[in-house]
Amino acid sequence: MIVVMKKNACKEEINRVSAQLQEAGFHCHLVVGTEKTIIGAVGDKSRLLNIPLEALPCVEKVIPILAPYKLASREFQPEDTLIQIGPVTLGGSELHVMAGPCAVESEEQILLTAQIVKEAGATILRGGAFKPRTSPYSFQGLGEEGLRYLALAREKTGLPVVTEAIDSASVDLVAYYADIIQIGARNMQNYALLKKVAKTGKPILLKRGLSATIEEWILAAEYIITAGNSQVILCERGIRTFETCTRNTLDLSAVPIIKHLSHLPIIVDPSHGTGKWRWVTSMAQAAVAAGADGLMIEVHPSPEDALSDGAQSLNPANFRQLMENLRNIARYTGKKLRPNDSRHLSCPEHTKLPPTEEGYRPKEGVM
Ligand code: PEP
Ligand code: MN
Repeated sequence: MIVVMKKNACKEEINRVSAQLQEAGFHCHLVVGTEKTIIGAVGDKSRLLNIPLEALPCVEKVIPILAPYKLASREFQPEDTLIQIGPVTLGGSELHVMAGPCAVESEEQILLTAQIVKEAGATILRGGAFKPRTSPYSFQGLGEEGLRYLALAREKTGLPVVTEAIDSASVDLVAYYADIIQIGARNMQNYALLKKVAKTGKPILLKRGLSATIEEWILAAEYIITAGNSQVILCERGIRTFETCTRNTLDLSAVPIIKHLSHLPIIVDPSHGTGKWRWVTSMAQAAVAAGADGLMIEVHPSPEDALSDGAQSLNPANFRQLMENLRNIARYTGKKLRPNDSRHLSCPEHTKLPPTEEGYRPKEGVM
């Protein structure tokens, strides 16, 4: 439920109401606006009987939240959540493209791809170091070596890095190198992992599960927010249907629905959504037209040699073309793409962290 405090409610009154709610077993989240403060209270409504909230002179009204998720709901927070990732703000007036290979394969491959996607206008570099492959015989990723190459690519290009954590054991390691931690489709309902990544304090890119409803997906985001991290980016990446022409069915209706139900930013991954490079450009354009805050696109310098997902990866020329097309489309959706000029991303403080030459040292008792 949302407790809207009166305009003139003072700090003591706000704290008193929060304390009463907490005593009754509610978790309280304060949103301090320029005009009013609201208290988001999550807990068992029946325990409210002894607190006549609406009778308190400092309370304007109490609004129940009907959706099963609370903190992720638009009712709880009407304004869009903005997520700051180094020099990039996601969820605002800019469209951001995260691009790079499915998997980091070598230092040369990721440095070259980072340069290519940056020059074309991408603002975030993607690349998997731990790969959740359907087959145990497929390439599983380079692990920490891959993370080090990603950090090196960030140092050289200024592009923040998004990469996946596939289990709780590797979360601290991934958090040490990454700017955004990706939770893959296969792990969307791995609640222990969601709670663990939330604690890193890093922005979390939460992919939609292979067979997850939109409600289940937002509830997964709610797990991360209730664990203390409200920086969640939702990513539609296609769902399982009976269709076989594509690897998954990209559910673009999720974009306006999420915008309606939640304040969290949503991006679209048409690479996994279609599974074939030929359909990626059209669906990326459609996602932007539908109002997505960004895209995640797999790009490989030579897709035919890729160790994973080559069939759905764009080559550099096709990626450049896509970015050109997006510039035109974005203009009509109220979002802007940054000029594809490298100077816009220089942010030395951000790129120097963490010290890549030292590497990750697990804290005692952590791993
Ligand atoms: C990926 O981004 O490379 C990936 C494995 O994605 P998903 O979890 O959506 O399959
Ligand atoms: Mn992939």
